[in-house]
Parts: sequence; C-alpha cells; structure tokens
Amino acid sequence: MKDISSLLNPVASALPMSGIRTFFGIAATRKDCISLGVGEPDFPTPPAFCKAGIKSVEEGRTGYTANAGLKELREAISKYTSSFVGVDYDPESEILVTVGASEGLDAAIRAICAPGDEVLVPEPCFVCYAPLVALAGAVPVPLACSPEDDFKVTPALLNASITDKTKALILAYPNNPTGAIMQKSDLELLAPIIKAHDLLVISDEIYAELTYDDAEFCSIASLEGMRERTVIVSGFSKYFAMTGWRLGYVCAPKEIYDVIFKIHQYAVMCAPTVAQYVALEALELSFKDNFATVRQMRDIYDERRKFLLGRFDEIGLPCFRPRGAFYAFPSVEPLMTDGETFAYGLLDAKNVAVVPGSAFGSHAEKFLRISYAYSIDTLRRALDLIEEYVNELLTK
Ligand code: PLP
Repeated sequence: MKDISSLLNPVASALPMSGIRTFFGIAATRKDCISLGVGEPDFPTPPAFCKAGIKSVEEGRTGYTANAGLKELREAISKYTSSFVGVDYDPESEILVTVGASEGLDAAIRAICAPGDEVLVPEPCFVCYAPLVALAGAVPVPLACSPEDDFKVTPALLNASITDKTKALILAYPNNPTGAIMQKSDLELLAPIIKAHDLLVISDEIYAELTYDDAEFCSIASLEGMRERTVIVSGFSKYFAMTGWRLGYVCAPKEIYDVIFKIHQYAVMCAPTVAQYVALEALELSFKDNFATVRQMRDIYDERRKFLLGRFDEIGLPCFRPRGAFYAFPSVEPLMTDGETFAYGLLDAKNVAVVPGSAFGSHAEKFLRISYAYSIDTLRRALDLIEEYVNELLTK
C-alpha cells in the first residue's frame, strides 16, 4: 500500500490544528491548572429549558425531524429574528436549524464558495473560518483589524482587500477573541462597498445577545439592500448556555438557503431532535419573560468583564475594552512581543492557561485571549497569579 498520507485530501491534511485545542491539550495534562481558555458558558443549561428535552424523550419524540428542523422551532427563530434582529425570514423557506453555528458556517461557506474564490476573513477571529474556506477550495484572505480601529473592519481595509475574485466577507461581531463590536454606524460604512462589489456576507451572530456598556447589536442584514446578500449564522450555545446540545441556525434569502439546505440534508439530515425541543422551550420561555434568564447571565458576564478590566489596569497589561461576547484580549507588549512565550511561561510558572493571540490570526501574536466564562472566584485566583508572573518578569 502507498504511504497513507499521499492518499488523503492534501488541503485537509495541511490544515493546522486549532491553536486553542493544541494549547489546551497541554494544559489538560497538568494537575490543578486554572484554565481561562474555553469559550463556553460556565452555567449549565437552565433546568426549565432542559425539562422540554426530558419530556420529549419520555414521550418518545426521538426520531428525525424535518431536514430543516422542527416547524415550531423555525417559527420561533423567525419571531426572534424579526423582533430582536429586525429582519424577517420565512420559517418555511429561509430558516434552517443546524448542528451548532459550526455546521451553519460550514454549510454556508460551502454553498457560496467555488474553487479559486477569495473570501475576506477579518482577523483576529474565531478559528474555523479560514480552514472551512480552504476546505471549500476557496482562498481565505485575512484582513488585519487593528486595535487602533477597535478591531473593526474599516472601509479602507475592506477596499484594499477586494479583488475581482472576492466572493464574500465574513463578519463576526461581537467578536471572538477580541470582544469588539461593530455597531450600525460602522456597518453602514461597509454596506455601500459590499453592494458596489456585489459581495455576499456571512454574518456570524452567535454573540448577538451578549453586549455591554451602551453597545447595541446590529445585524448587517438589517441595513438597506443587505438582506438579499447576507447569510446570518447564529445559535443557542452561548446565550442559552447550550454548547453541548449542538444547536444553531441559518437565516438566508431563499436562493442561498436552497443551496445551504441541500448541503445540510446530505451532510447531517437534521439537527438533534431532543436539542430542538430544548431550544424551542428556551425561546418560548424567553419570549414570555423578555429574555430574563439571558439578561441574568449577561449581567454576571458584565460584572466579570469589569473586574478583569480593573485587574489588567492594576497589573499593567493594556487591555482593549471588550463590549461584547465573553473574552478579554490584553496585550503582553510591555513585557515581550510574543503572547505564546508569555502563555507557555505562565503555564509553566503559575499553572494558569490562557490562549495565545496567535491562535486567532497571524497578526495577533502580542495578545492573549482570556475567557470570562468562569466564576469570579476562578478569575480572581487566576489574575492574582498572572500579576505575580508579570511582577516576576519585571524584576528579572
Ligand atoms: N462562532 C463563534 C464566533 C464562536 O466563538 C463559536 C464557538 O466558540 C462558534 C461560532 C460555534 O458555535 P456552536 O457551538 O454553535 O457550534
């Protein structure tokens, strides 16, 4: 038999492992390590939501659902999107329930990309976009969003990156890993450029419910002339604390939806049935209490965010003020230029794991991503140890 590696897909084989996982593989082998690395709510899924899943199992509703997902769930997503995002989607022909936002992103990218197309990927960003674009045979083109621009995509950056091969732009605000957000006025500057070059947009809105200070979430799909060229990808993992249920959704105009639907149909058939009942209950209860559970969790994240910002200030690590998601993105530049060296040093010296910025793009090396989806107690202990480590570096 030939060398197995020569028989495998060269694009898939050449993909790097996710920088988050690589680092946490090492951290997981260490006893009593304090990890601030995982982008996953520390809250369990609210029991009131879970009950609907338990009931669905007890009543034997454990088979496949329609490929697109439960009709009632699509209707609830449509109601949510219409009321809270300000864009109307037909639950019959424009909303697809997916296996997490992850599957939605994969299917949307595969539906849009043809070999040789270029897809603009603003960095720093979540780890999956560039690999999924490459797997679809297209070319991910990184846009280096800078801290001076609050990690936003600026018109200048966008204009400078568009070529005649550019097919789509991925937007992901509130952002993982920076916590940056782009508000309506920021998006309004991009929309004319996107329309002039006839680009499509994949808008990853998974953190839409998690904004702080006076920041207001805005979907680019809500802007004039943008709905028809935007795919919204979102999900329940983050704001309903439902990561393990693996449930997300895609909203797209019918023509794009039809192609995404076929990929979903062949790849996964349908999203997990029990999880769909849980998400349906989560939305229905939230409509009744005006998203009180989500607001409670968001207030706790906000308290932790403020605590972290205060501590970074005291420690002397400059930290961009995050206004969305649940990540802080401090820079290690006062001490060194390389966040990876800092992160490994911190792990060795203090048994605290944070993710080096390099995991999120090639120009984010001097940063660290710190998730505050951890209890204030854990954050306090970790930040005390980070302070000790920084002081040791300073006195070396
Ligand atoms: N998009 C972003 C920006 C994320 O941070 C994540 C998970 O961390 C996902 C998508 C994937 O979410 P899901 O659990 O719904 O697949």
